[in-house]
Amino acid sequence: MLLGLFSWLFGGRRRRLRKTPLSAEAWGVLERNLPYLKSLTSEDRGELAGLVQIFLDEKRFEGCGGLEITPEIRLVVAAQACMLLLRRETDVYPGLHSIIIYPSAYVAKNISADGFVVSEGTQLRAGQTWTQGSLVLSWDDVLRGAADVHDGHNVVFHEFAHQLDQQSGAADGTPPLPDRSRYVAWARELGKEYRELLRRIEAHRPTSIDPYGGTNPAEFFAVVTETFFERPCQLEKQHPGLYEQLRLFYRRDPAAIERGEAERLGGGG
Ligand SMILES: [Zn+2]
Repeated sequence: MLLGLFSWLFGGRRRRLRKTPLSAEAWGVLERNLPYLKSLTSEDRGELAGLVQIFLDEKRFEGCGGLEITPEIRLVVAAQACMLLLRRETDVYPGLHSIIIYPSAYVAKNISADGFVVSEGTQLRAGQTWTQGSLVLSWDDVLRGAADVHDGHNVVFHEFAHQLDQQSGAADGTPPLPDRSRYVAWARELGKEYRELLRRIEAHRPTSIDPYGGTNPAEFFAVVTETFFERPCQLEKQHPGLYEQLRLFYRRDPAAIERGEAERLGGGG
């Protein structure tokens, strides 16, 4: 089965796309908008370029509320979405067909009441996951989330974490995992931390994980994905078991990168 998966993943059109480098102009657009790129190794950047090519080839972008889709919008959304796939030898959001983009959260909010949309509910998040292969983002919030890599919020990471979650067939906070022992560990660690978050919210105590994660287990996974990439050292220190599960799932160790950055800055001053 693994061999079948690999030949499919790397076969035909996708194999060509994976090897197609991004243009210097495209990298320029990404460098301008995504400071997070600095934390990627050159190998990661090469893999990211191939994933972005596949993403742009297979997903449809639609501008709404007067927004015209530009190459910049496509690149900035695709690159952040594909960062969650790096090193994971996984498919490129197979259930997702179209990405609908509004200029701002205010406009996006106004279309959320038609019964087909799972709305995030707050204006600040400005992202929504539709149940039928679509996802809605606000371009303002995409840019804001990308610009600050340490504020703990990134609407693209959040919404695409929902997509990963749904690949298991249900939006229940558990994405597909490789084996039974990992499911057991995932349920133990994330279940424990989710219940602890609910206790702290009820007791009006401060939480290092955004209380929005207490909405339900699906939101918990999406919120801690944002925290994992944007405040990794804090998450690792305060919630080591949770951090470890996310490190195994995403096959990345952003806390180690953050410590390295801090050391370099400290060494320079
Ligand atoms: Zn959400």
